[in-house]
Amino acid sequence: MTETAEQNPEPRIRVRGLEKSFDDRKVLRGIDFEAARGTSTVVVGPSGSGKTTVLRSLNALDVPDSGVIGIDDVEVDFAALPAGKAGRREAARLRAQSGMVFQSHNLFPHRTVLENVIEGPVVAQRRPREQAVADAKALLEQVGLGERADTYPFQLSGGQQQRVGIARALALEPRVVLFDEPTSALDPELVGEVLAVIKDLAAAGWTTVIVTHEIRFARQVADQVLFLDDGAIVERGSGDQVLADPREERTRRFLRRIL
Ligand code: ADP
Repeated sequence: MTETAEQNPEPRIRVRGLEKSFDDRKVLRGIDFEAARGTSTVVVGPSGSGKTTVLRSLNALDVPDSGVIGIDDVEVDFAALPAGKAGRREAARLRAQSGMVFQSHNLFPHRTVLENVIEGPVVAQRRPREQAVADAKALLEQVGLGERADTYPFQLSGGQQQRVGIARALALEPRVVLFDEPTSALDPELVGEVLAVIKDLAAAGWTTVIVTHEIRFARQVADQVLFLDDGAIVERGSGDQVLADPREERTRRFLRRIL
């Protein structure tokens, strides 16, 4: 990203008053947070508390009933989202601001690693193929798979496939990278290599929002931790505060259960 903090002093991510129901069931009850450029926000909380819905809302995969999400210069007020095509266009503009890494990688099985990574830039963004290939190779180096560009997904371990998934999200040059439990589908011995790549990205200045149950990793990587319970942020602060010295009984109970 070329703009400097001075040119754009607003937080890169601005979330205000997010509310969402599924079938009359309220799953987000007014979520507010901000994240500065180059920071990592880690979202933790019990299963069903709304973490994935927050992430999917940032990416406009879920459409909140009300609230505002801004990522850099794209801001969407969901209560005022027009119906039909105009609304879909606004949602698509917001979606283009972030890249999502899912629990499992969903790579195209009949395409090489490199072809998987250049698909988005070439097809969706219509970037010149040669440039996309050069960028993809650099990204594959960055996630430790420089040697694997011409292999097929089935020839890779789950951890390596997940790292291709990360390279693929980065290839679209998003303002924000969203991780939805990126290690929860992996065998335990493959978790570390994926977390190490995410830590490197955070250190390299990418702005990230990460949903994870990996508490030790969360403490290491987070500039801020949001603890969600029942669709609301119950506690927020640094990793050391929220995860090691929580103020709220609900946070303590959650940590006791999973640690
Ligand atoms: P978490 O990520 O914290 O486990 P989610 O955001 O996935 O929580 O889900 C929050 C609540 O919303 C859960 O009760 C879940 O069952 C419900 N939910 C999520 N997505 C849908 C959907 N597409 N349709 C109906 N209910 C959903």
